[in-house]
Amino acid sequence: MTRQDEGRKTAGKTAEKTAERAGGRIRERILSAVYPRRCPLCDGILSGGEPFLCRKCAGKVRFIRGPVCMKCGAPLAEQQEYGAESREDQASDRGFREGQERGADFRKEKNSGQGCREILLPEESAEFCPKCKAVPHAFVQGFAPFLYRGEIRQSLMRLKYGNRAEYARFFGKALAVYGQPWLEQWNVQLLVPVPVHPSRERRRGYNQAAEIARVLGKEIHVPVEEDGVCRVKNTKPQKELTGRMRRRNLQGAFQVRAGTRMPARVLIVDDIFTTGATVDELARTLYESGAQEVYAACASMD
Ligand SMILES: [Zn+2]
Ligand SMILES: [Zn+2]
Repeated sequence: MTRQDEGRKTAGKTAEKTAERAGGRIRERILSAVYPRRCPLCDGILSGGEPFLCRKCAGKVRFIRGPVCMKCGAPLAEQQEYGAESREDQASDRGFREGQERGADFRKEKNSGQGCREILLPEESAEFCPKCKAVPHAFVQGFAPFLYRGEIRQSLMRLKYGNRAEYARFFGKALAVYGQPWLEQWNVQLLVPVPVHPSRERRRGYNQAAEIARVLGKEIHVPVEEDGVCRVKNTKPQKELTGRMRRRNLQGAFQVRAGTRMPARVLIVDDIFTTGATVDELARTLYESGAQEVYAACASMD
């Protein structure tokens, strides 16, 4: 049995959930026929030739660039805001625009030399950000393609609270594109989206982290564990709490269902990385269930 099979086996999906998801897909198809798809950054309507972002936003989107923290992936240098124009940025972001039109492999952009985004791989970057220097993390390593600011922040808020689950297509793709150097090294066998409490998921209709993980999983051909890990504690909203309180608030929040075993290398997926307390707590839970290396991929970093 290959490691991937092992991961797939541990995914442990129930028939009921599968049917529910199939129903969801049909609903999605009907809805997209009635309601046109929207650009995740400006919420404008997308044309057929714009699979992820509208043309205007594709030229302005800003990935985190330059040297990053070798632990959490936070930028170590000043970042430009969304929409700021410089020659270097235009060259680099054209890669994203052309890439999405051609459906190209974004690795080419990274290796093409001129004007490409520069990501220092962890071993090339010997530095930790101030937060990671101060607080040790339970996960091995992590990254995020965007800062939780401006249009990205608003987009993620609409994804979470504004019934825009479709934005996950963009964020999942961005994780696959931007995260490629890390993902290639980690070689993860299973994706675990940070679960939300069932009552919250019922209210929203979906879990935004799972929506993003499903897109990423398809992109990198890794199964997604959606049922085997759950949130058993309905925690207070983290943003109201300080670092230490966040950690205490989360203790015992997650549980791996009996009979679900984690493969060796697992990737946690979430929408926002703030202090890392959530990822750490979930990582600890996954280690207890057999994972040996737990990594993190979050759509944005606060
Ligand atoms: Zn747009
Ligand atoms: Zn860091």
